[in-house]
Amino acid sequence: MAESLLDKSLESLKGIGPYYQKKLVKLRLKTVRDLLRHFPSRYEDFSHLKKISEVSSGEVCSVFGKIEKLKTRKSFKKRLFITEAVLQDETGSIGIVWFGQPFLMRSLKKGILVIVSGKLAERDKKIFFQSPVFEVISRNASEIEETEIHFEKLKHTAGLIPVYPETKGLTSRGLRFLLKPAIDVGKNLPDFLPRSVIEQAGLIDFKTAIQEVHFPSSLEMASIARQRFAFEEIFLTQFLLLEARSKNASFKAPEIAMDIEFVKSILAELGFELTQTQKQALWEIIKDLNKNYPMNRLLNGDVGSGKTIVVLIALALVAKSGWQGVLMAPTEILSRQHFQTASRVLKNINIEIALLVAKQAKIFSEDMEGELAKPSLKKIIASGKPIIVIGTQAVLQKDIDFPKLGLVVVDEQHRFGVKQRQQLLVNNESGIKNNEKDKPVTHNSQLLIPHFLSMSATPIPRTLALGLWGDLDISIISEMPKNRKRIETKLMAPDKRQELYRFIRERVSQGEQVFVICPRIEKPELELDYQRFLNLDAKAVKEEYEKLKNEIFPDLSLGLLHGKMKPSEKEKVMFEFSENKLNILVSTSVIEVGIDVPNATVMVIEGAEHFGLAQLHQFRGRVGRGEKQSYCFLLTESESQTSQKRLEAFSEFFDGFSLAEEDLKLRGPGQFFGVQQSGIPDMATNALKDLKLVILARKLAEACLPKLDQLSLLKNELESFRQRVHLE
Ligand code: ADP
Ligand code: MG
Repeated sequence: MAESLLDKSLESLKGIGPYYQKKLVKLRLKTVRDLLRHFPSRYEDFSHLKKISEVSSGEVCSVFGKIEKLKTRKSFKKRLFITEAVLQDETGSIGIVWFGQPFLMRSLKKGILVIVSGKLAERDKKIFFQSPVFEVISRNASEIEETEIHFEKLKHTAGLIPVYPETKGLTSRGLRFLLKPAIDVGKNLPDFLPRSVIEQAGLIDFKTAIQEVHFPSSLEMASIARQRFAFEEIFLTQFLLLEARSKNASFKAPEIAMDIEFVKSILAELGFELTQTQKQALWEIIKDLNKNYPMNRLLNGDVGSGKTIVVLIALALVAKSGWQGVLMAPTEILSRQHFQTASRVLKNINIEIALLVAKQAKIFSEDMEGELAKPSLKKIIASGKPIIVIGTQAVLQKDIDFPKLGLVVVDEQHRFGVKQRQQLLVNNESGIKNNEKDKPVTHNSQLLIPHFLSMSATPIPRTLALGLWGDLDISIISEMPKNRKRIETKLMAPDKRQELYRFIRERVSQGEQVFVICPRIEKPELELDYQRFLNLDAKAVKEEYEKLKNEIFPDLSLGLLHGKMKPSEKEKVMFEFSENKLNILVSTSVIEVGIDVPNATVMVIEGAEHFGLAQLHQFRGRVGRGEKQSYCFLLTESESQTSQKRLEAFSEFFDGFSLAEEDLKLRGPGQFFGVQQSGIPDMATNALKDLKLVILARKLAEACLPKLDQLSLLKNELESFRQRVHLE
């Protein structure tokens, strides 16, 4: 298919020379499509065309009349250009004042007919237009009554006037000029959405939508037009996700035998029974592993819901059937914890388990546990021996060969970011390709790709997850193990601080440990007053640490943790805390990524209003991991009603999925992760609030996918979308 007119560079449009082009590039607008998709941020309503005798002060309206007087002067005091005019129609006359726009004299002239739109102000009992927009209707000094107005040609006045995101030198007025020819091009193009999709989704067609989103006939039509564009993005996103899914299914993967007896033998040793949803998730994973194409699954479950155990069983199964497995965690300390858990849980089944982090390697097997030189571990791995390797990203370095990699599990995958996840898969593939030289792992002479499982403790409602990662299958562990004690959660008034400190002291004297979370790292000196002024007096972590250490708890041992520390320093502090060498850990949100310190029973969150509910929930999940009763205290200086409401909801809800639904309603999906990071365009992200739309888009995309080759317009649009969102 030839390049669509939409892909044409903006130069090709009438009225766009090098000057405007430069400005447009600043707004990242290069093609006709880009410009057409530069949607107004709002509309000014100038649709009421009135006679001068009818207007009153304070209203916003449009008047058609003749410029009777016109002059520009410089104001005496402010050295500001003031342009004044008198507008007349058959019912009377009215003044107009513009400030600081001397260039107006170029387009305005005495005697011409114009429509003026804007707000009416009043001074000394006189009503006048203040800095209105205007449009020339006739340059000949013809009579008002004899002049016909072509409303459909108007851009700036007498209707709903679009206001755009601007850049220096390119105002909304300028953009409206440039958009007219672009819309003329757009209106002559066929719709890329198949008719069936338009009908089933109840959308308006492209031509109408383009016209109505920029120059709407009513606000309602503008919103209907926007719905179409929102749908487009969700629809195209679903397409890309489906494509990724079918591409995944075209690869081959090792078939892992379903050794149910073996799984049962591990379960029998656990000392507890899996919850219903743990069993369900495990079963889904085992079935996937048994297929001859790669699993690509997300395991989602609240903090402490028991994802790790499920994953370890899957890894053991992989090793049992002769393959290698990797479990990757975002930090060294988490890797160590997983290694310890694995060594404990899998100790009776004769499978080798290794820890591999930046500086260290360890191995655990039936006949030995201990340190190991890294090269020796690499050798063991390279021999193709079945093994479970647990570690940080160090595990998938180029120089480590996994000749029989069967399963890769990534803990807290969204922390690695979408890009890194892709890199991981590429590494994986190339890892296998490297082996091709010697001893390729093939199946009917096709390369094998390992199964892939990611774990996330951010409770994500299924529909949202589907919308964001429809290329993955999803397992959700939605219940907590029964033995869990509820974490007592309290919103504390700031004047109860002394009471709180006494309580902390009491817990510490019982040998328990405490987290204190603060929202920011340091108060920038200059901004201090400004922050106070805005009531943003966020607790700075260093300041808080110094205060607690020197004034409140001089006799206890405290640690400090924040994102600006070197990874090795962070690891050291977290390690000390996990070994109970520190009583209190003062930290920023970096603590969020799950470290497991069962001995920690108190979580104090300063400036709690600065965090989203999902994030607060992650913090709370850091305690209550042992037998003892745990507590979470929220402190806030904010008196805002909405913060109070959110924090109260947080004290009442304990289930992460309900909280996530709540947060989704309150703040939209953007806060689960950076929107940019998820690679989903803003508009689609907003529309994700409408989850029904996502499901419909997915269904329609599924129906179109097999016919894509015949739908050349759609295919073309999809290509351009792919480039825009960089999903690949
Ligand atoms: P997650 O990784 O989902 O945050 P973990 O797997 O670390 O949760 O589990 C938290 C704790 O709960 C661990 O000590 C684990 O052994 C224990 N656990 C897991 N599943 C169960 C269960 N079904 N019943 C009782 N305890 C469980
Ligand atoms: Mg965990």
